[in-house]
Amino acid sequence: MIRFHQVNKHYGPFHVLKDINLSVKSGEVVVVIGPSGSGKSTLVRCINRLETITDGELLVDGVRVNDAKTDINLLRRNIGMVFQHFNLYPHMTVLKNITLAPMKVAGVSEKEARETAMYYLEKVGISGKADSYPWQLSGGQQQRVAIARGLAMKPKIMLFDEPTSALDPETIGEVLDVMKTLAREGMTMVVVTHEMGFAREVADRVVFMDQGKIVEEAAPADFFANPGEERARLFLSRVL
Ligand code: ADP
Ligand code: MG
Repeated sequence: MIRFHQVNKHYGPFHVLKDINLSVKSGEVVVVIGPSGSGKSTLVRCINRLETITDGELLVDGVRVNDAKTDINLLRRNIGMVFQHFNLYPHMTVLKNITLAPMKVAGVSEKEARETAMYYLEKVGISGKADSYPWQLSGGQQQRVAIARGLAMKPKIMLFDEPTSALDPETIGEVLDVMKTLAREGMTMVVVTHEMGFAREVADRVVFMDQGKIVEEAAPADFFANPGEERARLFLSRVL
């Protein structure tokens, strides 16, 4: 579903992604971990072309992401993204937040968009909040709305960039539970997170990044029991 082949990216003179090779199969959950500044956000943002790669090849569902002929809007329709800071539209109700893109971008009727929105709000456990505004919700609830909004476009891939890092400890679990359900149902997911419990329990693979490189890629059981790289070992000793 996603394939990085020898991908490099520079920000001006700064080499942020170095020779990235990574494949994610349909239905797989890959968790990306690593120290701050190692390039995790840049890596996931390349997948939906929020960042462009400098060289190498990046394919999503068989399509070259950086090809001039690629329909970027079509590509992005298939990729939901959830950020650390929810990014909900503050002046719109929860329902409107979710129905907007399906109606504007995918051309879905209002009736169908509402039904779909309610289905996913139910799924993330907050259908009672459809007519609330984001500021009336807790962080965990806002993040679940953001997930429902992503799902309402019926994407093939969901990207998560530290979705629980801005949340109060008591609401982290409710967001992780929604993500676990999605994973169980077979969604293809790339998740940047510091939640090692989630990585251990849900990931098919853990990717450890440091200074723009993937330094280790392993099944979570192996990675956590016996990280092969000194840098990964050091990182784990700090976060666990
Ligand atoms: P992470 O998500 O692992 O913390 P990032 O991908 O956000 O890492 O950033 C990797 C490195 O690239 C950092 O050193 C950061 O300062 C730098 N960086 C990120 N975005 C930009 C940008 N738009 N311009 C220049 N440098 C950037
Ligand atoms: Mg980041």
